[in-house]
Amino acid sequence: MVWQAGDDDDPDGGSAAESGLPGGHGPTEPGNTQPWLNGFAAGGTWSTSPPSAALAVALESASGPEWRCPGATREELFAVLRQWQAMESWAAAGKLGVLRSLMREEDLRLPGTPHHGDLPDGWSKPLTREVSLALAMPAVSAENLMGMAWDMQERLPETGALLASGALTFAKAKAVDEGLLLLSEDDAAAAESLIAADLPGKTYGQVAKLVAQAAITVDPDSAAKRREDAERNRSRVTMTREPSGAAALSGRDLPTAETLAANARVCARAGEYKESQAFRDARMDQLRAAAYLDMLNGITLDERLASGCLPGTAPGPDNCGSVTNLPDDDSPDCGGPGGDSPDGDSPESGGSSPSAPPVPPECLPKLSDLVLPLASLLGLAERPGEGHGLGPLDPELCRALAAAAVASQRTSLCVTVTAADGVAIGHGCARPIRKASGATRASPDRRRVAQPTLPSRVNLTITSDRLAEIGAASAQAPPGAPLNAAWSLTRQDGPGPPGGYGVWTLTLPGGRNLTVHLDPVPTYECDHRHESRGYQPNDTLRHLVQVRDYECTFPTCSRHARESDFEHALPYAKGGRTCACNAGARSRQCHRTKQSPGWNVTQPRPGWHLWTTPAGLSYTQSPKRYPVLATM
Ligand SMILES: [Zn+2]
Ligand SMILES: [Zn+2]
Ligand SMILES: [Zn+2]
Repeated sequence: MVWQAGDDDDPDGGSAAESGLPGGHGPTEPGNTQPWLNGFAAGGTWSTSPPSAALAVALESASGPEWRCPGATREELFAVLRQWQAMESWAAAGKLGVLRSLMREEDLRLPGTPHHGDLPDGWSKPLTREVSLALAMPAVSAENLMGMAWDMQERLPETGALLASGALTFAKAKAVDEGLLLLSEDDAAAAESLIAADLPGKTYGQVAKLVAQAAITVDPDSAAKRREDAERNRSRVTMTREPSGAAALSGRDLPTAETLAANARVCARAGEYKESQAFRDARMDQLRAAAYLDMLNGITLDERLASGCLPGTAPGPDNCGSVTNLPDDDSPDCGGPGGDSPDGDSPESGGSSPSAPPVPPECLPKLSDLVLPLASLLGLAERPGEGHGLGPLDPELCRALAAAAVASQRTSLCVTVTAADGVAIGHGCARPIRKASGATRASPDRRRVAQPTLPSRVNLTITSDRLAEIGAASAQAPPGAPLNAAWSLTRQDGPGPPGGYGVWTLTLPGGRNLTVHLDPVPTYECDHRHESRGYQPNDTLRHLVQVRDYECTFPTCSRHARESDFEHALPYAKGGRTCACNAGARSRQCHRTKQSPGWNVTQPRPGWHLWTTPAGLSYTQSPKRYPVLATM
């Protein structure tokens, strides 16, 4: 998945430095680096200065022969490292700048091209060819690089400036450029200004995600159109050969809801293989691959278990028959989809024998984690959502996924109130109202059989301002008359206190009503209302920390909070509270890092996690900013 791309690999930009040792390296004598290194200590001249030729001299002198940095402290080493990276960005900006000069130079020789600022709107193929030779890259790559050079001045000048100042690597700047490529010039500028301030300090994946989110925010329609066009005109199944010689079979450009549902079913089947203990040595990935093939090949759970071996594994002499020859007298074939399942998404509604043991909870499909803006569902705005592992979702897709999610009985719904900047400040989990108020579950609709059901954890987000508006409107509207036939949110307890907390009714498409008690999330401040006396947090506390942090709080980690530990910043044994103001989501790996010598985490204010490293550097991770972005 593209959002997990965790590095700055860059196939054609040529940013990877050759790492051979230079011959005559610099003017500095060995052992003479100390005066220069001082400038890279905290508060030193060079530790924060923008890239320049002078910084290059300082870096070369402080690094010494073969960049061994003799005598450098750990802190100085990190400053030198960071500044070399800044120089790399600066050099890339220089390369792009000279490409623009070549365009201008050509324009002087061959006038007539329309202009954009002081740049011609285009350049000739021969110029591209010459660049391709000079930089030893294919002409296509040269053309792309020149396009980026043009964009960094005329289309995305803030990104160009971040690159030149060393705040953004070339690959990240390129991610911005590519992510906004299809927008109009005005929309690209609007999207850039939404995110420019947030880009420094982000990983490549985080940058790409912000860019996609901004692109959807400024132009939700074309994001949806691009996606739908791909689903209609480019969806396909490809079979290829892996470099290992093994085979690959994948569906591409597929509709999202159906794909998530299919993936959930594959995971569920793999869970059943695991649970059966029939394949003890198999990796989980291997079980998923087996489930994937079996479901496509029409091999049932019982057939696979009876075979005793997985696809591709060598059959044993006597205990592993060919699955396709199995007698099927004891596994009744249920033909079509099970008609009695209200949501049609039970893990094996198509193929399990009636005597199959009940599916234990671990075997349920992994639930999709979806953040869906309520305003988009209520028809009040076109806001992007996001799916964990999927990245930003356009509003149209949010509505489709919401419909698929509520069609599953295993879906859980929560409402999160955010401040204008997207930080969670209120939360309530939706619970069924004891007495359904007239509205009953819609009777099974034949047409819905073909629609996906998507068991999910749905977090519906809404800004506090919007919630206040809805609260005011529902105070005026007659009760029980939702404004919108699909989703609605109304107050149960009158106008209520400012800030929008209180009791709300969430009405789902089809008329099912849920009740939501909105409570503050311990962000900015904490009144310890959910503190646990013991070491273990209670469920509410754990849940609220997950909502607030959303991901592991290590700044460059993107593990979901639900797959992370609830960790005390100040250990419980040392008097740390089991409370949101002393706890954060830490993935297992980052948890171990935090516990190793020299590492420390504090929460200067609830929701802000300050990491201090063994080198004495500190990095702050702020609370999750749900995708609301600045525009309303
Ligand atoms: Zn909740
Ligand atoms: Zn507290
Ligand atoms: Zn982590």
